[in-house]
Amino acid sequence: MVYDTAITDGTVVTATEQFPATVAIRDGRIAAVLDPAETVEAERTIDAAGKHILPGGVDPHVHMMDPGDTEREDFPTGTAAAAAGGITTVGEHHRTDPTVLTADILTDKRDYLSDRARVDFGLLAGGHPDNVDEIAGLEAEGTLAYKSFTCDVHGVPALQSADMHRLYEEIDRVGGISMVHPEDELMLNANEERIREEGRTDGSVIPDWRSKEAEQVAVSTTLRIAKQTGVPFWFAHLSHPELIDQVNHYKSQGVDVYAESCPHYFYLTREDIVEDAPYTMFTPPAREESDRRELWERLDAGEIDMINADHAPSTLEQKAEGKTTSSTPPSAFRASRRYYRCC
Ligand SMILES: [Zn+2]
Repeated sequence: MVYDTAITDGTVVTATEQFPATVAIRDGRIAAVLDPAETVEAERTIDAAGKHILPGGVDPHVHMMDPGDTEREDFPTGTAAAAAGGITTVGEHHRTDPTVLTADILTDKRDYLSDRARVDFGLLAGGHPDNVDEIAGLEAEGTLAYKSFTCDVHGVPALQSADMHRLYEEIDRVGGISMVHPEDELMLNANEERIREEGRTDGSVIPDWRSKEAEQVAVSTTLRIAKQTGVPFWFAHLSHPELIDQVNHYKSQGVDVYAESCPHYFYLTREDIVEDAPYTMFTPPAREESDRRELWERLDAGEIDMINADHAPSTLEQKAEGKTTSSTPPSAFRASRRYYRCC
């Protein structure tokens, strides 16, 4: 048997173990995982000595801006970058143009992207009070999950508890999965008001505005509603360890909930925002050094289900100006040049 490619002398990593092996590929697929002592004939050999050989990664939280703000990125370049980083499946989110809120829009977007993708992809839709009646149709078209927000972002009003309850019941009824961006709108507003009254424009404005407490309250409310409705769901970008504990508490009660965190919470802290704004802006923001260290402990303990990128690129010029998507109204803090951007 002559294979197309053999990857030799590496360590294969599976979900449960690591072991030395040769990976043999034919017609673009893994044809065999062999004992390294076995002689393998292949047209091409890749020497992986000293390296790990991992399965393709899955990142269900990316924003590639296509169709829409493609000066920020488009699907061909974004999915090429994913492939270069070992990600072979991406979940693209719904805030493209037009926003994915109906089955027709989902179908059009899928057709448009079908020859623009360099890795496998799935598409998320938005979950909003105005599109509850669209959920069944979206699910039938193969929507990956439904994203909603408990705070005003992208010019979309925050999802109130009663609307969230109705939406989650419907997503659960059709067999879908929900995803939520958790920051409590009323607490954010109160923080903003206080910061404005104090006339602050210092670098701590963003972390004080988008506070840990606001994130915690939204997580609590969402967990309660998810438990009441039974909907399976995952939290986007949990930024500190107490949130992981909250999720695990509900998991132990049988709630079908998953915790996502992102690389930026493992490498950046509040100090990085203060020093390097606006290039370190996102929301929820990076937290304290102690939170960062504790997140690593939660990861090592297997308590975080997913590390996803929340990939949402901008050009350097846009970052410098604090621009978000073109459809988004200017941030309340634009005037102070203390910017934030989510997705
Ligand atoms: Zn996102």
